[in-house]
Amino acid sequence: PADVEQLGRATWTFLHTTAAYYPERPTLNQRANMLGLLNALPSLYPCSHCASHLAGNMKDHPPDVSGRVALSRWLCERHNDVNERLGKDKFDCAKTDERWKDGPND
Ligand code: FAD
Repeated sequence: PADVEQLGRATWTFLHTTAAYYPERPTLNQRANMLGLLNALPSLYPCSHCASHLAGNMKDHPPDVSGRVALSRWLCERHNDVNERLGKDKFDCAKTDERWKDGPND
C-alpha cells in the first residue's frame, strides 16, 4: 500500500541523513543512543512485516555504530537487502555521501 512506501521513503531519509551526519568519533553516549534507535525499529516500526524482516536481517548483521562511514555503509547494505527483496535496483554504497550529505537535495 501507498502508506508503506511513503513511510519507507520518510524513514530511509531520516536514517540515511542521520547516519551521514553521525560523528566520525562518536562518544559512548552517542553510540548507545544510535544503537537504541536502530534496535527499536524491529519492535516499533509501524509496518509489521517490514519490522519482522528487519529483525531477522539485523540478527545476521548487527549495527556498526563505531563511526559515520561504517554506519552509513551498514545502513546502505540493509537498505539494499530490502531493495533486493522487493526486486529494486541495488544502490551503489560508494555514493551514500553524495546522495545524503554532500549532494543537492532532491
Ligand atoms: P526507497 O527505497 O524508499 O529509497 C529512497 C531513496 O533512497 C531512493 O530514491 C534512493 O535515492 C535512496 N536509496 C535507495 N537505496 C539506497 C541504499 N541502499 N542506500 C542509500 N540510499 C539508498 N517495503 C515493503 O514493501 N516491504 C518491506 O518488507 C519493507 N521493509 C522496509 C524496512 C525498513 C527498515 C524500511 C525503512 C522500509 C521498508 N520498506 C518495505 C519500504 C521500502 O524500502 C521503500 O521505502 C518503499 O518501497 C519506497 O521505495 P522507493 O523506491 O520510493 O525508494
